[in-house]
Amino acid sequence: MDNCIFCKIAAKQIPAQIIYEDDDMLAFNDINPAAPVHFLIVPKKHLATLADCTTNDAALLGKISLLAPKLAQELGCGYSMDEKGVATGGFKTLFNIGPDGGQEVYHLHMHVIGGPRPWRRSLA
Ligand code: 5GP
Ligand code: ZN
Repeated sequence: MDNCIFCKIAAKQIPAQIIYEDDDMLAFNDINPAAPVHFLIVPKKHLATLADCTTNDAALLGKISLLAPKLAQELGCGYSMDEKGVATGGFKTLFNIGPDGGQEVYHLHMHVIGGPRPWRRSLA
């Protein structure tokens, strides 16, 4: 897509701090982080919003969802539960959809937000 900032990042036409890449998607740090850890998981295929996805995109959405905890773990904000059933760590995942959802970039992306609080109120 012409003029799509995330298509341009995927095509390496503009720089980003890329933390993961495979054939279908990439993850990079948000340029304006809301928390100590804040990255975006972005499909290489241009899809404007979650509401534009169809069942054809179900596997891709599954891959994005499964990558979030893996990368969160690698970046130090993974979730776990110990043998006594005490939960620690964790992070937030977020899709903004449309103007009322606060979406600014119309290329599908999952926010992954974590790390020590406090976080910026606007996204947390
Ligand atoms: P949205 O509001 O669309 O869900 O979130 C878009 C996010 O993309 C924002 O958190 C914003 O900081 C981030 N962002 C916008 N432009 C760029 C960019 O050029 N590079 C990176 N790394 N992040 C961006
Ligand atoms: Zn795009």
